[in-house]
Amino acid sequence: MFSKVVEFIRGVYNSDGIIPLHEPRFIGNEKKYLLDCIDSTMVSTSGSYIEKFEKAICEYTGSKHAISVVNGTAALHLSLLLAGVERGDLVVTQALTFVATSNAISYMGAFPLFIDVDQETLGLSSSSLNHLFAKHCTVNRFGHCIYRPTGQKIAACVPMHTFGHPAKMDEIIVLCDKYNIPIVEDASESLGSYYEEKHTGTFGLAGVISLNGNKTITSGGGGVILTQDQNFAKRANHLSKTAKRKHSWEYFHDEIGYNYRLPNINAALAYAQTEQLETYIVNKRKLAQDYKKFFQEFDIEFIWEPHRSYANFWLNALVFKDLEIRNRFLAYTNENGVLTRPVWNLMTSLPMYRNCIKEDLTNSERLSSTLVNIPSSIVLPMS
Ligand SMILES: *Cc1c(COP(=O)(O)O)cnc(C)c1O
Repeated sequence: MFSKVVEFIRGVYNSDGIIPLHEPRFIGNEKKYLLDCIDSTMVSTSGSYIEKFEKAICEYTGSKHAISVVNGTAALHLSLLLAGVERGDLVVTQALTFVATSNAISYMGAFPLFIDVDQETLGLSSSSLNHLFAKHCTVNRFGHCIYRPTGQKIAACVPMHTFGHPAKMDEIIVLCDKYNIPIVEDASESLGSYYEEKHTGTFGLAGVISLNGNKTITSGGGGVILTQDQNFAKRANHLSKTAKRKHSWEYFHDEIGYNYRLPNINAALAYAQTEQLETYIVNKRKLAQDYKKFFQEFDIEFIWEPHRSYANFWLNALVFKDLEIRNRFLAYTNENGVLTRPVWNLMTSLPMYRNCIKEDLTNSERLSSTLVNIPSSIVLPMS
């Protein structure tokens, strides 16, 4: 049966060679715009592609503001800073995520508090969140949400849209509003994904997109902060550019800033990629349909998009019955040049996050031993 899977994936990508998990495609104006940067010398912190790219992202996502930065992790860091996270605070997030989510929380001197993921969406579980609030949290007289067992403030909530499948944002918003907690969405994986026709990353105070080489579109390395709040956008822009006051020649920095601005050469690549984004999403959704149909025959669970959402299917995923079958599948496919990968180890199993506060993680634990990602690059038209 595993050999049939390898054969099918080879057929999809029409290749006898190594089939990567997710590789970028450059089929549009990438070379043209990059050459333009080099010819004009505008490769660094200023240049027209930055603005063009940000405008394209706003148009595509419906976000009021988009601030491009050097990577998704930096975008998360700045967003948490501007959301008001302070040293010693707690930030609620999911145990099943890429390590960058937790690292960005740590950069603030804050601590992640891990809750479970939803078994349908694979994103932050609203019922786990509800349980945390109802059982352990109080809003104090300053309007802060306090985690009673330690007396720490819960300063933010970071839901992550796993593999591009939107979390149940409506339920998460109701709960966080009730406890006065700002939301920073980790939409790193979900450019092109919508929940109830609204783009992921545009629900919270801020949302973050990654443009790393393995994501749906890439700038080499890069990230974007989405926000609907004009003041937040202004502050993010200012802090990402070393907090320098605009002036024709003078260097005056009015606070400790960051060098997080996306270089124009990366923005040029990203801009060319946004021109393909619509086609890419259609292509990825078609691949997911084909996978779904194929795996139905073998009684292997294929992760489909949650209700009321439209997913980009960034990484397609299978869920096996147990760890043993999963490991056999990983071994067979990788030995045969089809690069499949297990999902991340849970954050609570990593040395630096092992002692963090956590809720019941039943779904996360099950998925972490049974889920496998399978090749999901854009399928090129056969020529
Ligand atoms: C890719 C990713 C990030 C950000 O990654 P960068 O490589 O810093 O752009 C953050 N969170 C999640 C869940 C991711 O998948």
